[in-house]
Amino acid sequence: MKAAVVSKEKTVSVVDKQLRPLKHGEALVQMEYCGVCHTDLHVKNGDFGDVTGVVLGHEGVGKVVEVAEGVTSLKVGDRVAIPWLYESCGHCEYCTTGRETLCRNVKNAGYTVDGAMAEQAIVVANYVVKVPDNLDPAAATSITCAGVTTYKAVKVSDIRPGQWIGVFGIGGLGSLAVQYAKNVFGARVVAFDINDDKLAFAKEMGADVTVNSLKENPKEKVLEITDGKGLDACVVTAVAKAPFNQAVDVVKAGARVVAVGLPVDKMDLDIPRLVLDGIQVVGSLVGTRQDLKEAFQFAAEGKVVPRVTLRKLEEINDIMEEMEQGKFTGRMVIDFTN
Ligand SMILES: [Zn+2]
Ligand SMILES: [Zn+2]
Repeated sequence: MKAAVVSKEKTVSVVDKQLRPLKHGEALVQMEYCGVCHTDLHVKNGDFGDVTGVVLGHEGVGKVVEVAEGVTSLKVGDRVAIPWLYESCGHCEYCTTGRETLCRNVKNAGYTVDGAMAEQAIVVANYVVKVPDNLDPAAATSITCAGVTTYKAVKVSDIRPGQWIGVFGIGGLGSLAVQYAKNVFGARVVAFDINDDKLAFAKEMGADVTVNSLKENPKEKVLEITDGKGLDACVVTAVAKAPFNQAVDVVKAGARVVAVGLPVDKMDLDIPRLVLDGIQVVGSLVGTRQDLKEAFQFAAEGKVVPRVTLRKLEEINDIMEEMEQGKFTGRMVIDFTN
């Protein structure tokens, strides 16, 4: 079967790969679609360490074609998603308190173990999540990573209906954060970016206000629209440092800033601002299996609609390049159905 693997030269090679037989508790998934994520770019470039030879991909959606002994949660024919959280230990303090993504012995698809950017993938049956029948499987790939990540981040922000939330960075993540915040949590949304096309996209996705942080001062603009109060929360999906600092600047006292984007950098946290205004800055990493189930449900109800473009596996290096240059909005998805 064909698979996209990380090569020594920091590119992606499409190779022929032979899968080993299934072990107890595993299932074999015939891939239909797999989204391409910014994280794949980091993995490919070796930013998180050298993983030459690993199959990329953690936004896979496909159908179960075989189950091994001991599998009770899946059957042949089920459509499932293969997310970043490939497996966790299941018994540590994080796994037993609803924080399995923080497990210290976690395995990640397309990074520490072979992922979903392949015609077939071996999964741990208990760790894949079923995709609702009425959700388009290509769109479901975006919920598998960007969707669950932003749904969880908005959840963590503690935003309540009618309150103002800021979303910084309108890429694959941000555009979904806007929709979850608006259509699921009932918040009013301000979208921040430095690219007018992306802001127009945010508006289309339901943002109430858009701010181009290069042309307008984010803080002044926010004070203007909130009667001098500031935003109730922010979710930062940007991949540069400046928006993280701006997010802290635009929230009101007691607000929460949720960090999701992963620029390899440091934030400037003003300590008096943090202490005197009781600002909380928290990180949020993907989501649990339960979060993904919920994120899928809202997408199946049509509250969140990812924008996806189907591409061929052979185009993977072009896609990576386009992504690096910020050339597209929405998500590129590898089509394995033909
Ligand atoms: Zn991803
Ligand atoms: Zn654990």
